[in-house]
Amino acid sequence: MSRVYNFSAGPAALPEEVLQRAADEMLEYGDSGQSVMEMSHRSKEYQAIIDSAESLLREIMSIPDNYKVLFLQGGASSQFAMIPLNLMTTGKADFIVTGQWANKAYQEASRYGDCKIVASSKDKTFSYIPEIDNSEFRPDASYVHICQNNTIYGTRFSDIPETGNVPLIADMSSCILSEPVDVSKYAVIYAGAQKNMGPAGLTVVIIREDLIGNARETTPTMFNYQIHADNGSMYNTPPTYGIYILKLVLEWVKSKGGLSAMKEYNEKKAAVLYDYLDSSSLFSATVQGRDRSLMNVPFVTGNEELDAKFVSEAKKAGFINIKGHRSVGGMRASIYNAMSMEGVEKLVAFMKKFEAENA
Ligand SMILES: *Cc1c(COP(=O)(O)O)cnc(C)c1O
Repeated sequence: MSRVYNFSAGPAALPEEVLQRAADEMLEYGDSGQSVMEMSHRSKEYQAIIDSAESLLREIMSIPDNYKVLFLQGGASSQFAMIPLNLMTTGKADFIVTGQWANKAYQEASRYGDCKIVASSKDKTFSYIPEIDNSEFRPDASYVHICQNNTIYGTRFSDIPETGNVPLIADMSSCILSEPVDVSKYAVIYAGAQKNMGPAGLTVVIIREDLIGNARETTPTMFNYQIHADNGSMYNTPPTYGIYILKLVLEWVKSKGGLSAMKEYNEKKAAVLYDYLDSSSLFSATVQGRDRSLMNVPFVTGNEELDAKFVSEAKKAGFINIKGHRSVGGMRASIYNAMSMEGVEKLVAFMKKFEAENA
């Protein structure tokens, strides 16, 4: 077996220890005589797994008691509709558009009410986080939506906007579990699991309890937060195996020292890559300063042919999925929790070699 260094933006690399543990437990979970995949979601064995996933997430993220944790399906993209259907009670919502995902959230919500773009960084291909004029927020907006880490463009909010009494909602698909966050500052945090939590098919929603129960009349049952909250995420069959892998990932995060340790490690990893990019005469980062993401690092040579050559040689050398998103071009190294320092250092060594050969 020879595993590659996978820099995919998502579905992304998982910790090898997690995969090994899942392999060990594949045919029989505990002494249940069955795989987790084959278990009834109503069995006591499975209830223990989902309970443990939730309590570990609560512990690791310090989620206050007045928040519900929901394990849903449909990806972060379904949340783009589910949020307005449940929470846009005043018929208005405000958006900061810092990339394609933030824009999709804005567009989908616009189907349900009056949505305003308070700030955008579209003018420079979303390569920065815009200044926000707080007076632009509407006091009667039901919420303000941000995408905390912009997977495609490699930017992130290092400070979150001050929205006053208006609830703040964050898409954390590509940064959840990468560093501590103060959950109490948010009304809703949501994330597709396939970046930093587990396999595709599971979506985690962390929502303040008092916001649940206001879905508009025509909301599909499966899109109503109340239904899922009242049924412990088991109104229908939840993504059982994905939740189990999340539990293993959370055990792994905890064993490494939790989110402050993740942050420290992620900052070190990102610094190795950004420091090299800043010193290289061939490669350069597309994002500057404090807006730089710790998770997704886009870079270019400035020459499309050379970019393509790099991507192809990197792949041959075992560094895969390093091509940038088609809307940005160039390269992007996604370095989520599961990417080791060794992987980043080897990538940088490979880039140095490529730089020397293509000077
Ligand atoms: C990947 C991603 C999405 C889309 O997630 P799906 O689970 O595919 O719907 C949305 N937002 C962000 C920030 C992402 O990184």
